[in-house]
Amino acid sequence: MTFRAIDRTHLQQLVEQETERFQEHHPRSRELRETAREHLLGGVPMPWMTQWAGGYPVVLDHAEGARITDIDGHEYVDFCLGDTGAMAGHAPAATVAAVERQARRGITTMLPTEDAAWVGAELARRFGLPFWSFTLSATDANRFALRAARFVTGRQKLLVFNHCYHGSVDETLAIADAHGATIRGRGNKGAPVDLALTTKVVEQNDIAALEAALAPGDVAAVLAEPALTNIGIVPPEPGFHEALREITRRTGTLLIIDETHTISSGPGGYTAAHGLQPDLLTVGKALAGGVPVGMYGFSEDVAEKLAELGDPDLGGTGGVGGTLAGNALSLAALRATLEHVLTDDAFARMIELAGGYARAAAEIIRERELPWTIVQLGARAEYRFTPTVPRNGGESAAADDWLLDEYMHLFMLNRGVLITPFHNMALMCPATTASDVDRLVATFTEAADMLVSA
Ligand code: PMP
Repeated sequence: MTFRAIDRTHLQQLVEQETERFQEHHPRSRELRETAREHLLGGVPMPWMTQWAGGYPVVLDHAEGARITDIDGHEYVDFCLGDTGAMAGHAPAATVAAVERQARRGITTMLPTEDAAWVGAELARRFGLPFWSFTLSATDANRFALRAARFVTGRQKLLVFNHCYHGSVDETLAIADAHGATIRGRGNKGAPVDLALTTKVVEQNDIAALEAALAPGDVAAVLAEPALTNIGIVPPEPGFHEALREITRRTGTLLIIDETHTISSGPGGYTAAHGLQPDLLTVGKALAGGVPVGMYGFSEDVAEKLAELGDPDLGGTGGVGGTLAGNALSLAALRATLEHVLTDDAFARMIELAGGYARAAAEIIRERELPWTIVQLGARAEYRFTPTVPRNGGESAAADDWLLDEYMHLFMLNRGVLITPFHNMALMCPATTASDVDRLVATFTEAADMLVSA
């Protein structure tokens, strides 16, 4: 198979053209950024918002279903969906109604609600883990799951896969250097301690390295996404999950599966779709329709051990906290979203749409002889600038091409299509239609054709 080389001078020119077009059509967003600079760090509410293509982010006016409208009056078909936070679609009616109802009846009280019990049972049905606790973010769910794992095993270290992302949990912001030693990941300047003290990093799919890292018996837990999703999608190879489960069990290491993104695989995430058997499971982002929520589930065995140990973390003001966690509003939104929005039927439709996109994009890539691949993971699909699907995070990271990313993002944005920044991911929500996907494919085709036209 021969591949076409991308002409970098042509690419640079295209980025300049697209940036000019973007800035010409988004004057109000630019103005607001400049005004906001006076009191917001970097002129944005969160520092990473500076990284949207075009020099500044578009400012949201409103969002509904699979559509976003910015303050310059442009409408976008949204395949970014808040990087999964809005996988239920924007302002889903059932969630909005539940939020309105609950907001009038009390937002946060530090008391349980009937919704919480319903949600616990539903999560157990979906994911197969019997016991659940709540947080306000997936980051905190991971943080607390790790704490529980350390407490139960009496071990200090954790193991993650190279180029993973599990939220801003300090010990997970690590990568492996060329010799396999743990170092800080890109952008992680303020780590509280040397990460080599807390974290082992191996490549996903490297069973021998995993075996060697867990052999000394000093790792409390492996924290893993079922497939890496934050460095493109790196799927597990056949047999990897079986080996991961067998080795973790044999070495007394707990297995925490992070379903925050891989929930795209179905109503019970990749875990239910592929029969994984984690000791703990974490998830968040989308499940309350965008209202902040995170949650972590425990196996019977882990819950029993926690109880045997007397579990000081669960009482008083130990390390598991969050005054607002498990609040009445989040739980009402979570219940409504699970019951009426992110249903089994909705997942089936979303997965079918993503499949249509992935197949069409793969065809365009092949016809244009581009050295790219696209991987589907349920309701999401992501292309990567590598001729074959990367085997692990290191390989995928080596294929980073920021200029090409910028071009693709801007080209799409300028034509009313939004994909996830820092990746090339497109996600479907229950409101996404087949004609939205046609538009995504058409815009992708146009972008590819411009690129190869030099
Ligand atoms: N886990 C995974 C796999 C994620 O991708 C992310 C965020 N992108 C998180 C956890 C953390 O989610 P949040 O930022 O909402 O806490």
